[in-house]
Amino acid sequence: MPIPSYVMLKELRKLHLRRYQDPIDESLRGWNWDRPPVKPRAYLGLTINEVASYCPTRRDVWLRRITKVVPEVNEALKLGSLIHDVIHTTIEYFRKYVSSSVDILNAYNDVVSEVLKNFTIPEQFSGWVINLIKYVVIQLLAEVSWSSVGDGINPWLPWISEVRVDGSLLGLSKNLRIDAITGSNVVVDFKIAKPSENHRIAITAYAMALEANLEVPIDYGLIIYINGLNNTPKVSVESIYISSDLRKDFIDARDELIDMVISEREPPKATSCSPTCPFRNSCR
Ligand code: SF4
Repeated sequence: MPIPSYVMLKELRKLHLRRYQDPIDESLRGWNWDRPPVKPRAYLGLTINEVASYCPTRRDVWLRRITKVVPEVNEALKLGSLIHDVIHTTIEYFRKYVSSSVDILNAYNDVVSEVLKNFTIPEQFSGWVINLIKYVVIQLLAEVSWSSVGDGINPWLPWISEVRVDGSLLGLSKNLRIDAITGSNVVVDFKIAKPSENHRIAITAYAMALEANLEVPIDYGLIIYINGLNNTPKVSVESIYISSDLRKDFIDARDELIDMVISEREPPKATSCSPTCPFRNSCR
């Protein structure tokens, strides 16, 4: 995993305390998808980007769904997608590497060069992306080295990358893609962005969709922020308790969006727009 286990364990301890102090209202579990308030008013197959939109007025959803504007695939979107793919590929290659009987001390050079063969990286970002791959490999090597001299448990092994989950029971898309789930049922989301409230709504939606499908409690999430573009990659973690309040926030956001789409009500243009909004040229 791209964060050390000791960081994860420290965050988990904080989350356990929060859950103890503020238990989750069981009626807000995803498996109650067949009754209010978890049951959606309509099943529109909303994406996570729609429910947890970066647009302050949700005008992006109106543009896409009602006026059928196609978003531009701009440089920011391409870079975000590339970074996600690079991280997943690095983890996948590293797993394969250490599962074979090769000496793991060669993993650093071998995995970095193998991963790079899979991507065409824009020149201006290539140094940064290579540093990110190296960072992830170093974290994974540290985990494996430690477990080989410790109790023999590989803490990174239960980390499942790119998990597909059907969100339709909650009115979401059938093809939600979760970045990772750890062995202790923690949902992980990578963000190439500054921290934002909508990221908390997104991870709550993933957790409740998992609960709806698996019928096991998902109480915690980790948002791993990757920033420092054009400089040394900076990785930080925000641990999220999927509390009753966050669950209500997700349900409210989803239901307001359903009402807006069904009524075709046009939201106003936001007063402050992201410079990377893919609708900037078509939003008037
Ligand atoms: S340009 Fe602004 S108002 Fe329009 S969709 Fe983008 S963020 Fe929303």
